[in-house]
Amino acid sequence: MTPCLFCEICAGNIPSAEVFSDDQVLAFRDIDPQAPTHILVIPRRHIASLAELAPADTELLGHLLMTATGIAEGEGLAGAGYRVVVNCGRHGGQAVDHLHVHVLGGRQMAWPPG
Ligand code: 5GP
Ligand code: ZN
Repeated sequence: MTPCLFCEICAGNIPSAEVFSDDQVLAFRDIDPQAPTHILVIPRRHIASLAELAPADTELLGHLLMTATGIAEGEGLAGAGYRVVVNCGRHGGQAVDHLHVHVLGGRQMAWPPG
């Protein structure tokens, strides 16, 4: 089986520009940023996507989002605003099958998304 890219980043086997880390989550800068600030927040435990979450993951999901908002605050994005995105599955545009929360900011976002 091909090792999961984001599990490898969590394990430290693939380097990343780390922004925040604790026992449950890791945040690092996106390798191909789509905004002046573009950070990914992921659970350390492998969960493929939003569609794979179980009721027991409710607290972890809250922690992921709270981490995302804390990072946005720390990056100075809270005043002007920012966007939090979770792509799910093929139609959602998910490319990496390890749950991740995008935190994007530093420019005006468009709506609707592409
Ligand atoms: P998705 O399209 O699955 O929602 O987002 C995957 C994100 O992971 C993309 O924004 C992509 O640029 C980012 N990404 C893919 N490979 C790597 C990598 O090796 N390191 C980092 N830091 N980001 C990556
Ligand atoms: Zn994984």
